[in-house]
Amino acid sequence: MYANVVLGLPIEGPFTYKLPDGLIDKACAGKRAWVPFGSRRLIGYIVEIVDNTKVKNIKDIYSIIDENPVLSEDLLKTAKWISEYYFCSWGEAVEAALPPTLKKGKSHMRPPQLEPEDYIEPTEHLPPTEEQGKALKTVWHDIEKNKHNVYLLHGVTGSGKTEVYLQAIAKALDKKKTSIVLVPEISLTPQAIERFKARFKEHVAVLHSHLTQAQRFSEWNKIKSGESSIVVGARSAVFAPVKNLGLIVVDEEHEASYKQQDAPRYHARDVAVKRAYLNDAVVILGSATPSLESYYNARSGSYKFLNLTKRTQARPLPGVQVIDMRHYMNNSRRQAMLSRPLQEAIKSVLDKKEQAILFLNRRGFATFMNCRKCGFVIKCKHCEVSLTYHFQSGELVCHWCGFKQKPPNICPKCSSSYINYFGTGTEKVESEISRLFVSARVNRMDTDATSKRGSHKMILDGFKSGHTQLLVGTQMIAKGLDFPGVTLVGVVSADSTLHIPDFRSGERTFSLLTQVSGRAGRGSIIGKVLVQTFTPEHYAITLAAKHDYVGFFEKEIELRKELKLPPYSHIVKITFRSKSSAKAFESASKLAAKLTEKKDKNIFSVAGPAVSWMSRLRKEYRWDVILKAKHAEDAVNLLRRALSGFKKASTVKMAVDVDPL
Ligand SMILES: [Zn+2]
Ligand SMILES: [Zn+2]
Repeated sequence: MYANVVLGLPIEGPFTYKLPDGLIDKACAGKRAWVPFGSRRLIGYIVEIVDNTKVKNIKDIYSIIDENPVLSEDLLKTAKWISEYYFCSWGEAVEAALPPTLKKGKSHMRPPQLEPEDYIEPTEHLPPTEEQGKALKTVWHDIEKNKHNVYLLHGVTGSGKTEVYLQAIAKALDKKKTSIVLVPEISLTPQAIERFKARFKEHVAVLHSHLTQAQRFSEWNKIKSGESSIVVGARSAVFAPVKNLGLIVVDEEHEASYKQQDAPRYHARDVAVKRAYLNDAVVILGSATPSLESYYNARSGSYKFLNLTKRTQARPLPGVQVIDMRHYMNNSRRQAMLSRPLQEAIKSVLDKKEQAILFLNRRGFATFMNCRKCGFVIKCKHCEVSLTYHFQSGELVCHWCGFKQKPPNICPKCSSSYINYFGTGTEKVESEISRLFVSARVNRMDTDATSKRGSHKMILDGFKSGHTQLLVGTQMIAKGLDFPGVTLVGVVSADSTLHIPDFRSGERTFSLLTQVSGRAGRGSIIGKVLVQTFTPEHYAITLAAKHDYVGFFEKEIELRKELKLPPYSHIVKITFRSKSSAKAFESASKLAAKLTEKKDKNIFSVAGPAVSWMSRLRKEYRWDVILKAKHAEDAVNLLRRALSGFKKASTVKMAVDVDPL
């Protein structure tokens, strides 16, 4: 007897090993085994047992690690699909599906110390609105009949998408089926988790990256043993070891954080759809601003629409006013950070003892430092990016690699002293607000302010209790927060995401503005949103101000169609990186030439080598080759053909990203 085994290395398998007599009874697909590989001893994952093989010189498996399989058949299949679609090895995909403890070959871990949990007030089902009821009826029907369908739940902010999720999960639970709820890491706040625990108590297990390894392993075991049948978690929870899967919910399905940035570079939403398909389960993709891809899929019939067009309790959407910042100077005749209308609106909120959120998607104090004499900008030593000044730590910081240095007193290039800070980050907004509104209670929420354990909850509790009146923050405050006291949202600059050289920057800006606007007016008082911008005429801004997603989609999809961009194509990005720019360029050119030579009519284009958007990152220069094809499979197949016999310099690294964001 033989076992086909995959390994967590970027080498295609499976590899065949002989099962010694003593191990034949113990071996089966889904178990881990210690195997020899070259001169090393590695953990392998058995994918199949076979009784004959043509492979010569077979080595024996050393030992079987597990009593019971750690991977179910459906997870092995899902991993196989990931390896084919996202161009990685089957073993790498398998390792993405397992908790870290199991990848180290352990089977047991001392259970984590239980932290006392806050008491959570249980909640009952709310009577569904007419639209919620209509959505639930069709979802319930599919869950009952084991019918696979993908639903796009397009609901305006505050329309009660969560209540639909909760009642769909209740149906699955009732039918003895399991559910997985994916939430973007950034929105996986204690507040968000509480909503599920309040309804389903001990049925809920939670998986996310803030847990310790012991906690994660303990939650994983609760799911595996069937003790928990509802999993709430971030991206990797799509691999939760549930049995009898009935439902996967992907909340905020448009969020870029569902895409993993390291190999395997999978998109959790697309994996969710695949895994649900393999299990005859239902998928609900929820968003107020669906990705162009998902909305297009629903338009063309592969997904089904569920629409929530009204806010619950007939609360109106907030009125949005766009402010043209070209008209506002401060007293020293410089560009103002806060326009007169925004200052007045904040004052009025404070007078009425209401609350406001001020949003800016850039952290730090000043976003760059430059010399006004020679124009020199202080950049990171290791990356092609300017350093951000952080007031609290008094340092210049690289937001990409973490490099830090003290700000210089004179220009490093021309030695002049005309060196100064420019650009605005959240720290500066916070200080400006405190200066303008001396008696106001102001707080800030971004990754700097929440780096300490527990600080996240403290900031939110302070805002929830009404103590904090003005909360300044990055996209951390744009997502999912529900505070009825908030009557004003100020967007300090809508332009920070708009001018990134990426075809999705319009989509991201529209989505971010809609999400952050949705934080206003969730209580009994009508909300108001003020958006400051230098490009008030851009359609992403004007249509977000009108809450017009469909209008935005129509406009954007025309551009995508014309340029054959997703969803009209799939992109595969191959990045070459090296400390030598010439070496990376040389390998990229060689591959680009082979791709061009072997391409067929299914491929729209082979482009590059071109300098990556981040031309240098962590000391390495980067060059991209970009494939565009109608189907991702065709581009990946072309790449496989071009790579056979392809040799690159050993100091050059290559990374493949299918459907990059
Ligand atoms: Zn200078
Ligand atoms: Zn850097």
